[in-house]
Order: sequence, then structure tokens, then C-alpha cells
Amino acid sequence: MNKREFLRISSAATAGLIVTPLMSSLLGCSSADAAGQVVFTLPALGYSFDALAPEIDAATMEIHHGKHHAGYVRKLNSALEDHALKGYKLEKLLADLGAEDVALRRNGGGHFNHSLFWKILAPGSGASERRSLSPLLLERVEKSFGSMSALEAELTAAGKSRFGSGWAWLCQDDKNPDELFVCSTANQDNPLMHKMVPRSGRPILGLDVWEHAYYLNYQNRRGDYLAACLRRVNWTIVSDLMA
Ligand code: MN
Repeated sequence: MNKREFLRISSAATAGLIVTPLMSSLLGCSSADAAGQVVFTLPALGYSFDALAPEIDAATMEIHHGKHHAGYVRKLNSALEDHALKGYKLEKLLADLGAEDVALRRNGGGHFNHSLFWKILAPGSGASERRSLSPLLLERVEKSFGSMSALEAELTAAGKSRFGSGWAWLCQDDKNPDELFVCSTANQDNPLMHKMVPRSGRPILGLDVWEHAYYLNYQNRRGDYLAACLRRVNWTIVSDLMA
């Protein structure tokens, strides 16, 4: 969180308003340059390429972060030159863009989605983070799905049934933050894109089911890859990302 963001949240908190931290602040996927203009940069992974092995191999991580994600960031900044949405924080940009704005949809979505994906995976042994979801998240999961295993089954089904490339998501409903739901989107769309999805929400967990995310290690076995991802989820971070 930069200073301006902190001050905005603090002053609103003083005024008695409930303020949800912006996803882009939590994920480090927007940053302001000297002129106060929002520019987008590739966030550091925060762990080594082999830190998710054996579930996700080092070669996949290196290409995925250094080539695929870096490419989305580069093309996003390029698409924003002379664009009316230049200067917006990422979630505002995604909420406002229309279906016809293909470059922003692909690359703005790609930047947000991957920034979230790196965060919600626990590196190394990560044993405590993998198990520790907050009491509030557990309560909401049980209310919305019945149990953690029912949630994982829904996420797996959403990821497996996505035809072609896309994502499986756990989201918080926009209007009722107590309500969680699972959905899937195609390509680099995500549930922040109000105009493109049947139900919009705040994505707090995203699983990448593009072949580039798993093909080196899992080939056509998307279900095995999804099970491995679920073994790696950092539920502490997912809890922190809730509004
Ligand atoms: Mn990807």
C-alpha cells in the first residue's frame, strides 16, 4: 500500500466508513510514478521458481511469470497509451471496460489474474499458511458451500469444465459480502469485469487453467494439476483478501 492509498483509507476510516482495501494495493499490481500516474509493473514472485515444486515445477513457473505475465504487463501499458482509461487503478479499469476493448480485456485481466495467482499459492513447506483460514472465512465457506471439501469440489469442477483457456474463481458477492460463490471465466476475463460476467464479485482465489500453467508437467491431466494447486493454496492470504 502506498502512502496516498494509506491516507485515503485512514481518513475514510476516521469518518466512520467501512473501506475495503483495493485488490491492486493488496496484490501490488498498480504503482504510481513520479507524476502520480498509475503505471503497471510485473510484481516480484516473492519466492523462488522451484518453491512450489513438486506441485508446480520450476520451468513452468519461470516461463509463466517471466514470459506470460510480463507480456500481459507490457501489452497492457502499451494498450493504455492515449486510452481514456489511462491512469485508473486496475480494478476500476477492469470494471469499466467493455467487451469490445479486446487489448485491455486480455492484458488488464491477465495482469490482475496472475498477480492474484502468485499470491494465493504457499511456497516451500508453507504448512501453516495452507491450513490457516480465518474463522470468518471458514464461517462464510460453511454458509455458502457447506464445507471446505465441498468448496474444493466446486472449484475443481469449475476448472475442469472450462472449455479451452480460462480461470476458476472463489469470489465474494458484490452486494452481500457474507456470500461466497464459485465461477469460471474464459481467457483472461475475471469477475471484476461487470459487463462481461453473469455475476460479478471480488475474486479472492483464482486458479489458472490455461495449458501454459500446467502442460510441461501435467500434459492433458488438468484435474491432477487442479488437485495439486488446491494442496498449495495459502488460505491465510485468501482470508486476508476478503473484504
Ligand atoms: Mn497463466
